[in-house]
Amino acid sequence: MRKTSQRPPGFEYRSERPLLAKSARSRASTLDELFCEQTSLHRLAERFGTPLYVYSAGIIRERVSDFQNAFRGTDCNICYSVKANSNISILRLLVKLGCGFDVVSGGELQRVLRAKRTAAADVVFSGVGKTIPEIEAALKADILLFNVESASELETLATCAARLKRRARIAFRVNPDVPADTHPYISTGLHKHKFGVPIGEARELYARAASLRCLQIAGISVHIGSQITDFAPFGIAMERVAELVRQLRKDGHAIEYVDAGGGLGIDYRAHSSSDAELNFSSVVMEYARSILTPLRKLDIKLLLEPGRSIIGPAGVLLTRVLYRKTNGDKKFVIVDAAMNDLIRPSLYQAEHQIVPVKAGNDDPEVLDIVGPVCESGDFFARGRELPHVEEGDLLAILDAGAYGMALASNYNSRPRPAEVLVNGKSAKVIRRRETISDLLMPEL
Ligand SMILES: *Cc1c(COP(=O)(O)O)cnc(C)c1O
Repeated sequence: MRKTSQRPPGFEYRSERPLLAKSARSRASTLDELFCEQTSLHRLAERFGTPLYVYSAGIIRERVSDFQNAFRGTDCNICYSVKANSNISILRLLVKLGCGFDVVSGGELQRVLRAKRTAAADVVFSGVGKTIPEIEAALKADILLFNVESASELETLATCAARLKRRARIAFRVNPDVPADTHPYISTGLHKHKFGVPIGEARELYARAASLRCLQIAGISVHIGSQITDFAPFGIAMERVAELVRQLRKDGHAIEYVDAGGGLGIDYRAHSSSDAELNFSSVVMEYARSILTPLRKLDIKLLLEPGRSIIGPAGVLLTRVLYRKTNGDKKFVIVDAAMNDLIRPSLYQAEHQIVPVKAGNDDPEVLDIVGPVCESGDFFARGRELPHVEEGDLLAILDAGAYGMALASNYNSRPRPAEVLVNGKSAKVIRRRETISDLLMPEL
């Protein structure tokens, strides 16, 4: 059983008891410290340096299995959204757990094929700007489904398929015009967004697709946005999709798949396992109900494209305090991670919880936690209450597994962090830290 008032399994405070804890001195050193599974985070930081992404394989397994349980009894395949975190070792773990993949570029497809050559059979390809080389690579790999996002893309796909003498299974990604209450940058399901085709034009487009010999109509796809925590929009979108399934079947099209997209949000503010986030299994249950209810009796194969909800809480970004400083009445903690390593606070005003790796007992203080990059937007937290930390202390930025490393850049010529995957007591580097020479190479 999980204890309340602790982080989810995978990231918990534990007291590390030295074998000889008799003397007062060693007792004093048994402060609670943050662990990833059975692995001490401060030891990882010492071994591999900071900033460092650390992922828990256990959390990934648990969340995939929560998904699988919630959709048990329906013909459903989880096509993990590679863009959330595209590390090949993580993809390999997800293959083992039975996942397929949603890719949005040729590069992501290559990553999936590197993880497992035969994984293409469970790959769906989304994105508004697929290029001809990307389409050709996906045709050659014989992926499960192309999610087509425009009339022009349909024609290009048909031409490519004819040239390669391949058949492409297609779904149109329809834009259901459903607002989702999330950050404007990650809301996608309204007409004003670039994504998908208007649901009202779908019948015409499916008729056109049916007339193209190298294309095989296979389904309907929808994805209304990301970080959605109110399930009503999922249900509304799915009702519109269900209606379209009926209509298209009446028109004579074989609609076998409904791809419900991703977008299930996580609670970045969860403080304890009594918070909703930690009760992920019941959250996915509720999500499943809102998706499945409109699809009842339709006899379709369901595809899901979760990204964040699987990998987000499975990762932390470890960073070390470089300096403390005070400007007027503002206190700053300058850490060695920056917006180039984790851009979510700057880009989406995301508020990641930040905790000290060694649990402090001191009175909290109000701080800005900022990185070394030359931008005022380079912050992880502003006006945040945090236990007192000293220079040299380690902090863990929580829920950084999704859209963390995947969005990392080399801005300010900063090498990107290493990534470590923890499995119980063992920790494996799944991406080595970049070096300055890695950065300079393409220019020399
Ligand atoms: C980004 C994306 C997803 C994954 O979204 P999450 O919010 O990470 O679950 C799924 N499908 C498509 C088409 C996407 O663009």
